Amino acid sequence: MLVVMKKGATQVEIDAVVSGIEKRGCIARPIPGGERVAICVLHNDGPVDASAFLQIPGVKEAIPVTRPYKLASRESQASDTVIDVGGVRIGNGHLTIIAGPCAIESETQALAIARIVKKAGAQIFRGGAYKPRTSPYAFQGLGDEGLKILAKVRLETGMPVVTEAIDHEVFEMVEQYADIVQIGARNMQNFSLLRRAGKSRKPVLLKRGLAATIEEWLMAAEYVMEGGNDQVILCERGVRTFAHHSRNTLDLSAVPVVRQESHLPVIVDPSHAAGIRDQVIPLSRAAVAVGCHGLMVEVHHAPETALSDGAQSLYPAQFDDMCRQIGPIFGVCKMSTNGCG
Ligand code: PEP
Ligand code: MN
Repeated sequence: MLVVMKKGATQVEIDAVVSGIEKRGCIARPIPGGERVAICVLHNDGPVDASAFLQIPGVKEAIPVTRPYKLASRESQASDTVIDVGGVRIGNGHLTIIAGPCAIESETQALAIARIVKKAGAQIFRGGAYKPRTSPYAFQGLGDEGLKILAKVRLETGMPVVTEAIDHEVFEMVEQYADIVQIGARNMQNFSLLRRAGKSRKPVLLKRGLAATIEEWLMAAEYVMEGGNDQVILCERGVRTFAHHSRNTLDLSAVPVVRQESHLPVIVDPSHAAGIRDQVIPLSRAAVAVGCHGLMVEVHHAPETALSDGAQSLYPAQFDDMCRQIGPIFGVCKMSTNGCG
């Protein structure tokens, strides 16, 4: 249930609602809104009796929240969440471009690619320091050294950086260096990692699991939010299907559905969806047209030599093209009253 306060409700009135919720053995989570405060009731075993709350002064209404993902749901927050990462905004009205290599391979490589993507229009730099690889024999990333290189990239280019925390063990270190902590597709239902991300004060980029439904994905976001971190960015990166023409199948229909269901920003990673460079630009155009809030794309200055995911990494000139092409498409989307949603 969501207890919505009247405009101008006093702190004493809000506190009365909070203690009423806590007296029932539930958790009260105030959600600050532009005009009025709403208080979400969490951890209730059954339906909560609304009438008791309606008698408290300052309460406007009590609305049932029907979705299992309460905090992530539009029912608890009608307006879009916009996340500010070092001055770069992700969410409503913005198209944020995140680009960089799959993995940080060296300082020279990272800086060269960072300069290229920034010039073309990227606002945030990506690069894995710790890599979740299918094969234990594949390049596992530079680890802490990669994080230090990311910090240099931020210092030199001014771009915030996003990198993955592959497990609990490295979370703290990643959190110290990254501006956004990525939770990878394979970890979408690693609940202890999600709880750890919930304690973080850094925004979390939550990738959709390889075979996750939208409900499971939003429930994963709920874990992070329930822990106290409401800065979650969802990332559609393709799901496993019978298709052989691409690495995964990019589920673009997820974008409008998530935008309807949730107030959280949703971005698209066409690189891991496609697995093949030639599909990345057309899928990026389509992702923008369908209303995503941003793209995360792998780019490499010399993809033939890349230590991971070279086949799906764009050449610099291709990334430049991509950035040029998506601008007008986003312009058309902005003409729609709900930004293509
Ligand atoms: C990545 O973005 O570096 C990555 C490993 O992607 P995913 O978790 O979507 O496979
Ligand atoms: Mn990759």
